[in-house]
Amino acid sequence: MKKTALCIVIILCFCVAYASASTADMLIEHKTKPINTQELINAHKTTQTAFNASKYLPQAQPTPKILPIERPRPSPYLIEGFTKPAIITIRPDYYSVEEIDPLPYILKTAPEKVSTWFVYSAGNESWSINWDAEARPLKYIGIHTAPNMSMQEMNAFYKNILYEPRYQSNDNDPYVKGLPAHSGHFVDGTESFSPFHYVIYRNGELFIGASPYLILKNGQWYVNQIVWSLGNWENNCEALSMCFILDDYPNSEPTQAQIDTANRIIDSIRMKVPNVEVAPHFQFNSQSNCPEGYNLWSSKLH
Ligand SMILES: [Zn+2]
Repeated sequence: MKKTALCIVIILCFCVAYASASTADMLIEHKTKPINTQELINAHKTTQTAFNASKYLPQAQPTPKILPIERPRPSPYLIEGFTKPAIITIRPDYYSVEEIDPLPYILKTAPEKVSTWFVYSAGNESWSINWDAEARPLKYIGIHTAPNMSMQEMNAFYKNILYEPRYQSNDNDPYVKGLPAHSGHFVDGTESFSPFHYVIYRNGELFIGASPYLILKNGQWYVNQIVWSLGNWENNCEALSMCFILDDYPNSEPTQAQIDTANRIIDSIRMKVPNVEVAPHFQFNSQSNCPEGYNLWSSKLH
């Protein structure tokens, strides 16, 4: 995704002339049988050639990615003694095909990216956007600070300022305007909109905001769940994100307990990715000054 996730940017408006009547007929037909992306596209080609739909369609048949529905797995990054167990799940079943047909969203998404973003349940009854599809090999651990709030408050806050605006935008990579907002990230059975994989409270206690799994592919450790933390998509895709909760935000510094927790995490990650770079949020986004005062305490981090 060649755009920022944090910043609301005016993206190319992908205006597709839309013949709603013939589309509606087609949608009714498709609700009676399992969804097949190529079938949808073919149907569109034959019924709506008037506005040259092929211009917007993928050249090759997209391969729907089938993900397991709600298969809980324990977090591998539990560091005994100072973290609560987290069960992390990925779900492809946010939108029922009966209720929300994917076709309009497929058609308005950049054609070459349709097969990247759209995923379907095993029976094709439901679908979703896989926001983790563009994960890269881990390169950074991004450091942030935030005011004191619970994980529940954090979910609500960041859903509101990160995800809702994206789901109201005309961005076509992918086009999701008007869909109910989902992150695709579940922790302990609750959908998480946290932009931080690790949230470290004043007493050093660690909470998991998104999967801190690293996935080994072709000899490289890839990020699993991409959080929208750094203000640009490319870096988000190659970063784990760590946030210190401050009492007097943004003026106070992390406690020694917080630093200790962070260093144990950093050490454990370095066992897999020795050259991972610990870097402040503002290094990736010139519009951010997070975390304020970083240079006063950054030398304490490993
Ligand atoms: Zn930050």
